[in-house]
Amino acid sequence: MQHPEAIIVRLGELTLKGRNRRRFERRMMEQIANLIQHYPKATLREEFGRVYIILNGEPYAELAAGLNRVFGLSSYSPAVKARLDLEDIRRRAIEWVRGAEPAPRTFKVSVKRANKAFPHNSHELAHLIGGAILRQAEGTLQVDVHQPELELRIDIRQHEVYLFSEILPGTGGYPVGSNGKALLMLSGGIDSPVAGWHSMRRGLEIEGVHFHSYPYTSERAQQKVIDLTRKLARYTPDRIVLHMVPFTEIQTRLNQSNCENLLITLMRRSMLRIAEQLASGRKANALVTGESLGQVASQTLTSMQVIGDGIRLPILRPLVMMDKQEIIGQAQAIDTYDISILPYEDCCTLFVPKSPATNPNLKVVERMEKSFFFLPELEQQAVEQTEALYIREQEEDKFDEYF
Ligand code: ATP
Ligand code: MG
Repeated sequence: MQHPEAIIVRLGELTLKGRNRRRFERRMMEQIANLIQHYPKATLREEFGRVYIILNGEPYAELAAGLNRVFGLSSYSPAVKARLDLEDIRRRAIEWVRGAEPAPRTFKVSVKRANKAFPHNSHELAHLIGGAILRQAEGTLQVDVHQPELELRIDIRQHEVYLFSEILPGTGGYPVGSNGKALLMLSGGIDSPVAGWHSMRRGLEIEGVHFHSYPYTSERAQQKVIDLTRKLARYTPDRIVLHMVPFTEIQTRLNQSNCENLLITLMRRSMLRIAEQLASGRKANALVTGESLGQVASQTLTSMQVIGDGIRLPILRPLVMMDKQEIIGQAQAIDTYDISILPYEDCCTLFVPKSPATNPNLKVVERMEKSFFFLPELEQQAVEQTEALYIREQEEDKFDEYF
């Protein structure tokens, strides 16, 4: 491939969204602008649902990797530019075909002429350009309009012409924040950051909620959650708010209450009630968890039912039908896996019952909760004592020194 001079970026599903389209496009532009601010020579142009990044010498591969973190993007293409001039287009087209690797034996030219003022229609142009390529190739190339080894696509725009072949898939989804806000229950394990990534890809703004049992759990366990949040912050131009909820008191009291194999069920219910309260203060309309059906005792269908009972907000579980191995693969792809497997204990690994209930009974659980007079007040306190951290992508270095 020739050295790309531009990247053509196509916006995704959001083009379907009629009325909201302008807002979505603005949001995408913000994200792309945020990405290219690290590449001062690069410039942006927006035209009819497409964004053109003009590289001006900035590295294509790095920018393309960055584009994979912009949600709402359906595909992109590395391209070269030509002037609005047939001879210049031919010259660049010949170079493009020569530079193609591996050398194609068959090719096809397709032309899209958004600029109707440009002379010749697209059909004629394809012939004029294809003919020039054939003459140069001296018999080593043939046209194949059905299954060409190389398709040279030529996009004639208002101010210039782009030549490209590949259409690479983007990450899809919607721009972060374009579909509302949810609170992500973030544990420090493998699953919840992946659930966060899926939520953001669906256009949700997320705020993290982490329950800790400091000093039983270490500061490192909290730092781990901060680092995971920072990985997620690479997918949004904004900061991510992370709510740190002190859970020590509730956990200790529940543990002393002889609830045995229902401890995890009770803890989870309490966590969700607290998260729901935080959500109402933050104008979030859903809770997101990293639960996956059947993975552990607290994630059987009855457990999920009993744990979620009484919560009015929708509980979104992006990973509910996924296999662990798939989740691990995604955690590696978004670079959270290595942090997640660090061995610092989580609040849920304290006081784990020997055989946590896989089939809890809602009536029994509710009766127990009624007898725990301390619970509503402690939950209220936990909400009040929650601390918010503001986490951005770039502060990475500062926090690395923490260890
Ligand atoms: P993960 O890998 O996300 O920790 P897991 O397979 O270990 O998930 P659990 O520990 O049962 O499963 O947790 C299920 C879900 O409950 C988590 O994905 C997360 O959304 C939420 N959760 C668990 N512990 C915490 C915590 N300490 N703070 C916030 N959310 C939590
Ligand atoms: Mg966990």
